[in-house]
Amino acid sequence: MKGIKFVNIGAQFNSLRDEILKKVDEVSQSGEFILGKELQQFEKNFASYCNCKYAVGVANGTDALFLVMKALGIGNGDEVITAPNSFLATAGAVVAAGATPVFADVRDDYNIDPNKIEEAITERTKAIIPVHLTGRLADMSTILDIAKRHGVYVIEDAAQAVGASYNGKRTGSFGTAGCFSFHPLKTLNAYGDGGAITTDDTALYEKLMKIRNHGLKNRDECELWGYNSRLDNLQAAILDIKLKHLDKWNMRKRRMAALYRRGLQGIKGVLKVPADAPGEEAVYHTFIIQCENRDELQQYLQKQGIETKVHYPIPIHLQKAAVSLGYRKGDFPKAEAITKRILSLPIYPELLDADIETVCSRIIEFYAPK
Ligand SMILES: *Cc1c(COP(=O)(O)O)cnc(C)c1O
Repeated sequence: MKGIKFVNIGAQFNSLRDEILKKVDEVSQSGEFILGKELQQFEKNFASYCNCKYAVGVANGTDALFLVMKALGIGNGDEVITAPNSFLATAGAVVAAGATPVFADVRDDYNIDPNKIEEAITERTKAIIPVHLTGRLADMSTILDIAKRHGVYVIEDAAQAVGASYNGKRTGSFGTAGCFSFHPLKTLNAYGDGGAITTDDTALYEKLMKIRNHGLKNRDECELWGYNSRLDNLQAAILDIKLKHLDKWNMRKRRMAALYRRGLQGIKGVLKVPADAPGEEAVYHTFIIQCENRDELQQYLQKQGIETKVHYPIPIHLQKAAVSLGYRKGDFPKAEAITKRILSLPIYPELLDADIETVCSRIIEFYAPK
């Protein structure tokens, strides 16, 4: 029996092998590995893909968040509101910047609840970081409205949502800045770590370009203290090749999501299956269902050779690292309740329609009366 893996990163390489190896050869011979012309070209293309004026390549998605906060002067004594059910990096970047993460509970689409943001705002709030979790958009118009009324920044964590859009407007173009990850497990992925920041703000862009490179204005003059957080020229060259395929991959994932929706319709035991909201074009970084007897279902699928995951089993506010923030079990009932029901099913462009059908059949079998 052929198993269905949760990810298969190698499969994508085979389809682009010749083009990528040729480019690696070319860049290697040029000897331009740091801040080269391939990086500039990718930044230009990525900004335009995200409907933004500028993009800045950085070392990873966590740094993207961290550097934006640093550039905006967010740090000690400041609070930043975000979701407790994200990947750890969102809150981790806030802590690294010296600020305090303040969590707000989520809605049924796993994204931050604007009403809860409003309740969490204090005089110390400097920014809101909505996470477009699972490749679906947070409620940006309401969030932008709240931010405007309270005079705080909106920094999008779009690490899981490259290419997702609302009424045709893409993630990374709503807030003051958008933060992306090109980690190997993200849809647009590098061969190692990578990230980018998008923005329309010229002053912020110029500051970020310096901050990611030691604060240097040119080779010898340092204008402000910065960091070393650049996107490698080789990675940028590879990402630029992949960017041309991104829409096709996202479309493929959207089709798979539709197949899952059809295949899982009306199954007793499957409590919730994700679907686009009106105006939304999600990219389904993960396809998370909610189900009864989740652990048993996961084991059953594993026995059938189908690999699944849970994103994420422990909310950030209940992690050991978060103890000093003073949260307790019960503080975010929605985010906590779903941890026992959520299951991420395999979804990546190289899977076949038949694979999706197999996963659905096994789930139907599991819940069938015995
Ligand atoms: C992956 C991810 C990040 C961090 O990106 P890295 O490139 O791994 O640093 C941040 N936020 C979310 C929601 C992510 O999924």
